[in-house]
Amino acid sequence: MARSTRWTRQREAVLEAIQQAKKHLTAQEIYHRVRQRLPGIAYGTVYNSLAYLREAGLVREVKLGDGPVLYDKRTDRHDHLCCRRCGVVLDYKVPHLEQLLKRVRRETDFQVESAHVLFEGLCPDCQRSRDEEEQ
Ligand SMILES: [Zn+2]
Ligand SMILES: [Zn+2]
Repeated sequence: MARSTRWTRQREAVLEAIQQAKKHLTAQEIYHRVRQRLPGIAYGTVYNSLAYLREAGLVREVKLGDGPVLYDKRTDRHDHLCCRRCGVVLDYKVPHLEQLLKRVRRETDFQVESAHVLFEGLCPDCQRSRDEEEQ
């Protein structure tokens, strides 16, 4: 009994770390944040909690290119903008995706089950610092 209560508290702390973050977090970053609340927590416990939360549909796992898996509090279907310079990851929802998927189906006969669009480029901050460097 005591064990399951403790597990719940740890999962809750992991979920809160993700929900309170303003960005998409790696497992390492989540571990560091959770440790501030539960100093004794092991990395493996955080990792298991993440798997549980993902399976429960409470968080989403996002894999962008070669980078580490990121954990996302937004669980609805959406896309991402990724800055190649500072690595910032922003949410973006491609409009009219349904129509695009119908077109893919028509042209390729492929039955798409999920879609995620990754936009790579420079965020506004990095565009500004690039412009300053060039002057
Ligand atoms: Zn940037
Ligand atoms: Zn996202």
